Amino acid sequence: MNNEKIVTKLGGSSLATGQMISSSILNVIADEDCKHIIVSAPGAFEKRKKVTDMLIEACDLFEKGQSLNQPISLVAEIFKEISIDLDIEIEGNKIISEVLIEGINKNPYRDYILSCGERTQARLITCWLKKQGHKVRFIDPFDCIFFNKDQSLNHRKTNPAINRMCFGPWIFVIPGFYGRGHDDKVKTFPRDGSDISGAIVAGAIKANLYNMGKDVDGFYVADPNCVDDPEIISKLSFSEARALAYAGAKVMHQATILPLVENGVSVRIFNPNKEGNFGTLIKPIVKHEEKKILGIAGKSNFVMFKIEKLMMNEEIGFLRKILSIFEALKVPVDHIPTGIDTVALIVDMDNYPKDNDVSYYNQMIRNRIEKLDYDKMEVNFDVAVLAIVCTEQASFFSSRITKILSENNIWIYSQQILGNQIIISVYREFLKKATQAIYNEFFPKSDEIKICQTS
Ligand code: ASP
Repeated sequence: MNNEKIVTKLGGSSLATGQMISSSILNVIADEDCKHIIVSAPGAFEKRKKVTDMLIEACDLFEKGQSLNQPISLVAEIFKEISIDLDIEIEGNKIISEVLIEGINKNPYRDYILSCGERTQARLITCWLKKQGHKVRFIDPFDCIFFNKDQSLNHRKTNPAINRMCFGPWIFVIPGFYGRGHDDKVKTFPRDGSDISGAIVAGAIKANLYNMGKDVDGFYVADPNCVDDPEIISKLSFSEARALAYAGAKVMHQATILPLVENGVSVRIFNPNKEGNFGTLIKPIVKHEEKKILGIAGKSNFVMFKIEKLMMNEEIGFLRKILSIFEALKVPVDHIPTGIDTVALIVDMDNYPKDNDVSYYNQMIRNRIEKLDYDKMEVNFDVAVLAIVCTEQASFFSSRITKILSENNIWIYSQQILGNQIIISVYREFLKKATQAIYNEFFPKSDEIKICQTS
């Protein structure tokens, strides 16, 4: 015991069956510093679906007028099996009928129904730990995680409530994925939101470490969908992790980063199902020994508005006029590569306001730009952005990257090098090929290294 505060979140796949629950939880509490456990609903197992997916399907049917009875009884069966495996059948049955069946009968709305996967799971785990003789408390996030009217987190109310409730010589079992909305109804986070719940708890109690259990072995150097068996990054700073997550590395939800950074909490992303997997440690400040590329992340679904105007560089306020169009439409601009008489605005279409569809915003932006005085406009809807994050000045690697892309016939729309990052935009179809080419150049497999060294 180091007298540290450690918060651990366990994902659904490490909590899919009674046996998995007992081994994962016993592993966590073997470290006496780990007193806060955030749990997800049971994950998929063999042919069985993830409980949250089953609950979503139940809600979809319910909203079309069908009964909840049958789909919810299937979920109840899963929890019954878990209770039997944990040897808490009688207590488990009581929890399942109170929390899941009666809870949903009394509160038949989507967010409540979805929260029942996590709530029932956490109640069963609390009951089992108590029966094992542990001092344990169930903490309901409905009483300590609060949302504002605009769906953002109400830190002012949340942090003191968590500290008040999670205090004392107990193990705290906390369901992830939900809190209380401003309307006093249950409100869920986006999918995989237990990661965010864990970050909020870790931030509120100013934990020394947040152990975030995931189905992946850590932060990959490159997307495993593009590259076979990519290496794991052993350590990263928050800003490095954010740059990779921004550009599509899906390991870490952007919303988990803020509560941790604000409170100086380090996070370790690891795979609880894999013995000996240390994962990736992310800290506020990290010193890297080597000058190297840390990671390559990429995301498609960007649009690029390229505008040309002779003498643009001398015209005061031209850029402001363009940017005010995006501001008025509440569309964030991601990148602005410029030339002397050219400017391009690269925008992530996933960030368009949700009150209208994507084509509406594309058209509105175009119409408004057309009212400006310019020579030529080109709009590309098929843009992907690659972020290459390095340990030091990215300029050190840029010529090798450009060379390798051109050798692979990958056309670059734009390239920006700033600090430790290189941002490259390419035609969407080239994203995978570009990722592979850069990865193979900087992370050759060991036998390839041998060949290079002997030749
Ligand atoms: N159970 C929720 C989901 O499947 C939340 C989570 O697992 O983090 O998205």
